[in-house]
Amino acid sequence: MKVTILGCGPSQGVPVIGNRWGDCDPAEPKNHRTRPSIIIETNGISILIDTSPDIRTQLLASNIETVDAVLYTHVHYDHIGGIGELRTLSFLAKRRIDIYGTFATLDTLQNNWSYLFKSDTSDDAKLYKPVAEAHPFEYGAPFNVQGIEILPFEMDHGICDTTGFRIGNFAYSTDVVELNDNAFEKLQGVETWVVDCLREEPHPTHSHLERTLEWIERVSPSRAILTHMNFQTDYQKIKALCPEGVEPGFDGMVLEID
Ligand SMILES: [Zn+2]
Repeated sequence: MKVTILGCGPSQGVPVIGNRWGDCDPAEPKNHRTRPSIIIETNGISILIDTSPDIRTQLLASNIETVDAVLYTHVHYDHIGGIGELRTLSFLAKRRIDIYGTFATLDTLQNNWSYLFKSDTSDDAKLYKPVAEAHPFEYGAPFNVQGIEILPFEMDHGICDTTGFRIGNFAYSTDVVELNDNAFEKLQGVETWVVDCLREEPHPTHSHLERTLEWIERVSPSRAILTHMNFQTDYQKIKALCPEGVEPGFDGMVLEID
């Protein structure tokens, strides 16, 4: 299984509009962070997690041509803003793209982008065919995407819940400030974990370095990668603070997982 971190940035990206780099060194290429999306490639299937507003440039940069399914973590703009690109992905796949989320997530997506889901009965129908097929899941209930088993689990994002995903011994936990015992149970035995770490200072909706390192110690994966880092989080500085087996992610990072 190959996982590519397409974007490991925060909601505003790094730099923020206005060329604001904060504590990040602009000369370090790994400080250039687009909004959060990752893609998992296994058994000839490509599964995208979230369609960030930067998804078009991310897929071009990583030379990804096809996406078979999209899993959504939650409906904040930085995770869904590129949903309109499903149209291109559907053209390339020559079929509707299967998308997965909680009932609440899919409801928001279908209400706001109805043209992606509904059959158009007007004269323009031939031009605007539906491009996405929605599949709801429930937390803790594994589902199958073309033979790949996915386990979604609930996480606390401060102002809403968000979904963590486990696929084999890989797990992705972006946008989380608290993890309960149930989430830790689902993470048991994970070997590679990509996990939220916005910055060193605490934050009301995201984990910070001290908390994330405590979680990593509890889950005990062989490799942990920090994501959703903001402009207060310089790549080299945070890397120097990480213990063995923990490292900050960067856009385009590829993880090979057994
Ligand atoms: Zn969020």
